[in-house]
Amino acid sequence: MKPKMLVLMGGQGVGKGTFSQMLKELHDYVHIEIGGILRSLPKDSEISRIMAKGELVPDEKILEIIKSNIPDKSDKDVILDGFPRTMQQARWLVENYAKIFDIHVIYLDVPEEVMVARIQKRIREGGGRQDDANEQTIKNRLTNFWETTVPVIKWLSTVKEIKFSDIDVTSEVNENFKRIRNALEI
Ligand code: ADP
Repeated sequence: MKPKMLVLMGGQGVGKGTFSQMLKELHDYVHIEIGGILRSLPKDSEISRIMAKGELVPDEKILEIIKSNIPDKSDKDVILDGFPRTMQQARWLVENYAKIFDIHVIYLDVPEEVMVARIQKRIREGGGRQDDANEQTIKNRLTNFWETTVPVIKWLSTVKEIKFSDIDVTSEVNENFKRIRNALEI
């Protein structure tokens, strides 16, 4: 049997990080959180400047990072958190990894008002993320999600080689997690 690759997709504040942690308590996944990897890069880099504006980092850089973090020749199950976000990233993922992994895309589906409310809560609770501090940056991230990533999610839902689940995660966290576990049959 092929190892599993869970691809958590969804907009800002939908809980990709929280659900990744909860999944890791159930099973030993390799968790690849692209936003966290990018935030660990030097603060004076071009990438940090792009992130501070809420723009997308160029695909070539993202693909290079993802490639070096996905274990090769391993039977470990993987969680991808925050990737793919563009059509080029998604096509690359399917072309290179659908043969190696059983890919299951989990779309954490919430309306934009819920995303905005959750980002505001994160700011009030003092998460201290540079890209949560500026209103225009938050707007840019949300625009990128709806304009660039939602079409990617729609396309992934049509790809025959992968599984796709659209999960409403507007309830409280344990109920939402139950729905994710049901979809994953774990
Ligand atoms: P959020 O989803 O709340 O915007 P992330 O931590 O996932 O937060 O990402 C932070 C920033 O990192 C994004 O605004 C973007 O600049 C960059 N980034 C993350 N993932 C990708 C990706 N797959 N492609 C391009 N840029 C990305």
